[in-house]
Amino acid sequence: MSFQRRKTLTAQVGGLRIGSEAPVAVQSMTNTDTADIDGTVEQVRALAQAGSELVRVTVNSAEAAAAVPLIRDRLAAAGIETPLIGDFHFNGHKLLREHPACAEALAKYRINPGNVGRGSKRDTQFAEMIEIACQQGKPVRIGVNWGSLDQDLLARLMDENNALAVPATAQWVMREAIVRSALESAQLATEVGLPRERIILSAKVSGVQDLIAVYRNLAARCDYPLHLGLTEAGMGSKGIVASTAGIGVLLAEGIGDTIRVSLTPEPGGDRTQEVIVAQEILQTMGLRAFLPMVIACPGCGRTTSTYFQELAQRIQGHIRHRMPQWRLDHVGVEQMTVAVMGCVVNGPGESRHASLGISLPGTGERPVAPVYEDGQKTVTLKGEHIAEEFQDLIERYIVRSYPRREPA
Ligand code: SF4
Repeated sequence: MSFQRRKTLTAQVGGLRIGSEAPVAVQSMTNTDTADIDGTVEQVRALAQAGSELVRVTVNSAEAAAAVPLIRDRLAAAGIETPLIGDFHFNGHKLLREHPACAEALAKYRINPGNVGRGSKRDTQFAEMIEIACQQGKPVRIGVNWGSLDQDLLARLMDENNALAVPATAQWVMREAIVRSALESAQLATEVGLPRERIILSAKVSGVQDLIAVYRNLAARCDYPLHLGLTEAGMGSKGIVASTAGIGVLLAEGIGDTIRVSLTPEPGGDRTQEVIVAQEILQTMGLRAFLPMVIACPGCGRTTSTYFQELAQRIQGHIRHRMPQWRLDHVGVEQMTVAVMGCVVNGPGESRHASLGISLPGTGERPVAPVYEDGQKTVTLKGEHIAEEFQDLIERYIVRSYPRREPA
C-alpha cells in the first residue's frame, strides 16, 4: 500500500472488517423501493457483482422493513453474502423495534443524527436505535449530512461563536457543527452501551473543499473508522470529478476506510457505475487492485481512424466481462496491466512497462501491430483479426503468468 493509513478502531460488518489495516471498502446504495423485493434483490445482485462490498438500502416504511429479511434470504440463496446496511431516518426506532427480523437481517444500521427526531424526542429515539443495535450485536454508522444537520446544535454553536471577541466565519461554524454532531452522537451511543468498535462515522457535504476540511478535522479528533463520500456528487463527469478530487485527497492523507461515490444516474442509466468509479479511484491511487488496468493513449493526429478507440474499448470490455471467471481461476490476475497504444512511435515504450501491450498502426504506418509481453516483443499481429488475436494472447498470458487457484 502506498499511503500510510490512519490508525483506527476496526469494525466488523457482516463478514467484512472496516478500518485501520483492512482494505478501503467500496460501498453503494440501491435506488429501488425496498418494498419491491424482486427489484431490490436484482439491484443488490448487480451492485455486488460489480464489486460493491457493502450495499445500503432505504428502510423507510413498515413494508420496506418487512421486505429486508426476505431480500437477505433471496440473496443468500443466490450465494450473495454482501452485507446489507439499513438506512434509517425519523421512524427508524419504530421500524427496528417492530421488525426484529429486519434488525437481525441487516449487517449495520446507518443513523443520521439530524434526522432521528425533533426536540426532546431526538435523544430518546436515537438511544432506542442504539439499544437495538446493542441487543442485535450490530455496528452503526453515524452518518451526518449537512443537508439535515442538527439545527439545535448549529444554533448553539452559532450563539457561542457570536459571543467570541473575534468570531469565526459562518463556514467554519458549519463545518465544526458537522464534526461536533458526529462526535457527540458517537459519545451518546457509547453512553447507551454501544462498544466503540461498533461505530463508524461519516460527515457528508456536497463541496469538495468542505469535505476535505471536515474529514481532516474529524480524523484528527477520533479513532473511529470513517466512511467517505460527497453527498449529492452530481451527474456524469461532474459527479465523478468532484468525488475523485475530494475522496482522492483524503485517501492520499490516509483518511478513509470505506468510500461511496454518490453519482446521480442518467435516466435509465446503470446504477453500477458508482461502484466502477469507486473501484477506479482506489485502483488508480494504488490502494487496491480490482481488475487488470488498461492503459490507453489519448490518440492524436496519428490515430485518425476510430479503429484504435474501438480496440481499446473492446479490450476494456473483454477484461471486465472475463474478470469474474479469471478472479475465480487465477491468483493475482487483477495486478495485470494492458497497454493499448495508437502508434508504433511511442507505443512500444509504454507497452514495455505493461504486462502485455499492443501498438496499433498509426496513420501512414505499416499495417502491423507489435505486441510486448513482460517487456519483450513476442509477436507482430497483422490483418483483419488483430483484436481477436490480442484477446487470445491475453487469455494465454493469464494462464501462463497467474497460478491456478486451488479449489476451496
Ligand atoms: S502513442 Fe502515438 S497515437 Fe498515441 S498519443 Fe502518443 S503519438 Fe499519438
